[in-house]
Amino acid sequence: MIRTTSLTKRYGPITAVDGIDLDVREGDIYGFLGANGSGKTTTVRMLLGLVLATSGSVEVLGHTMPASARTVLPQVGALVEGPAAYPQLSGRANLALFDSMGAAGERRTRAGRVDDVLEQVGLGGVDKRPVRAYSLGMRQRLGLANALLGRPRLLILDEPTNGLDPQGIREIRRLLLDLHAGGTTIFLSSHLLAEVEQLCTRVGVLDRGRVVLQDQLSELQKPTGRIFVSTPDVARARTLLDGQVEAHDASSMLVRVSDAAALNARLVQAGVRVEVLTPERHSLEDVVLAATQASPDRVELS
Ligand code: ATP
Repeated sequence: MIRTTSLTKRYGPITAVDGIDLDVREGDIYGFLGANGSGKTTTVRMLLGLVLATSGSVEVLGHTMPASARTVLPQVGALVEGPAAYPQLSGRANLALFDSMGAAGERRTRAGRVDDVLEQVGLGGVDKRPVRAYSLGMRQRLGLANALLGRPRLLILDEPTNGLDPQGIREIRRLLLDLHAGGTTIFLSSHLLAEVEQLCTRVGVLDRGRVVLQDQLSELQKPTGRIFVSTPDVARARTLLDGQVEAHDASSMLVRVSDAAALNARLVQAGVRVEVLTPERHSLEDVVLAATQASPDRVELS
């Protein structure tokens, strides 16, 4: 759905995006994770043809961007930083206006679609208020509503939960999961690890302009081959398991073995009381920290 090859953007002496190869597949919710200033917005703008790459290439929906923007953009819903809207008009009027500029359609179905997307993003009840009176979170929702107008196959969203309170973040997460379940592929940038961990199926990590990690979330979080066991009988268990216990304290231990069910059966048969037994997995935070610390030292961009 999105493929970039050695994509690079320089602003004078600053390399904002440094030779990245993104691979976003159909059906992904792809989390593009990076600290502030790491180059996420610049990348999103290049995907949409809003910023020209210094070098490298971008393919969206199988077409080269920005050359094929006319073919590609009608099939893509986009939310870029600071969504644009006419401040004196209501959210509904803004959407109607954007919709009339976009895909052709019957006036009646268009009005229905505006209602649908307002409802979808939780702005159904505030349609008379002018956008200048909107909070940042409301503007963000309006931007998202606009992205949904054309029922896109692909959504490209730059920090979609920016400015939303926890309730709003949860609603948008649910909405994105619903859209994904309905077949929409989603690419979203975020600086929030927890957000990406809860929502995404695939993760790319950007560190000072470089992609330092890109993989399926399930692969990054697969079991490590060690099992955590909490038991009041650590001494007995250690004797039983001999050299397989890698670490322990008074009430728990880490055992190097991959079959949790077999380990449980073995412990219980030997009379070891098992309180908790769970395969160890790396958190996304561990994986991201390891990848960013391992990335080559470069001057921090501000
Ligand atoms: P944030 O989450 O804060 O928006 P980001 O990850 O989206 O950060 P970018 O906005 O893409 O990062 O910026 C990456 C780097 O490029 C930064 O050092 C930024 O100052 C620089 N940069 C971005 N746009 C321009 C521009 N138009 N001119 C000069 N430098 C720019």
